Amino acid sequence: MELRLDGTHYPLETLGPGKRLGIWFQGCTLACAGCMSRHTWDPDAGTTATVPEVLGLWRRALADGADGLTVSGGEPLQQSRALAHLLAGAARLRDGARRHEGSAGSRPADLLVYTGYEPEELTPGRRRALDGADAVITGRFRVAEPTRLAWRGSANQRIVPLTPLGATRYAPYLTRESPGPRLQPAPGPDGALRLYGVPLRGELAALESRLGKDGVVLTERSWRP
Ligand code: SF4
Repeated sequence: MELRLDGTHYPLETLGPGKRLGIWFQGCTLACAGCMSRHTWDPDAGTTATVPEVLGLWRRALADGADGLTVSGGEPLQQSRALAHLLAGAARLRDGARRHEGSAGSRPADLLVYTGYEPEELTPGRRRALDGADAVITGRFRVAEPTRLAWRGSANQRIVPLTPLGATRYAPYLTRESPGPRLQPAPGPDGALRLYGVPLRGELAALESRLGKDGVVLTERSWRP
């Protein structure tokens, strides 16, 4: 099975606890005003990869001691079959790695999914696609509702644990501010600068202004129409 991706990154440290593999799905029709990832909207852009190819990245991340996997986008639930396969395979690999190593003392890696759908929009089909996830962060980005809550871009967004592991891992963060930096810069596959994470209100404009003062002009910005 193939999925259409915007990209992947490891180690990701700004979208969930610890050191994680980040996978960004391509394509989103929800069109939130103020979205910082407009480049992920076009369902025909990005690249394609097979689920086994992406799971190969996850296998390597687990071998490196990753704390978790974060799926974001774009809208992962607009490729729900591929998402379901990916999560099921990722959970199998995680559980297999723990059995192989012996789980005593080691911290299981969790599977986190971002969706722009609200909880009441999670139809049975969408919920089935999330079966393998330990937690989901739900809700549109609402530019008028800024927040400092960990890993969320607006105050309406909720962390919803789906498994005992998700409850244990995310309970401390349901109403907490981000434990570290909110943005992680890294070179993207196309040579462009990527900013991984969820900025505070005004943070991107401030960054743009600081770069401008240093003589760095951003020619394209994914947060601008
Ligand atoms: S914030 Fe997320 S759900 Fe909203 S338009 Fe952007 S990618 Fe889609």
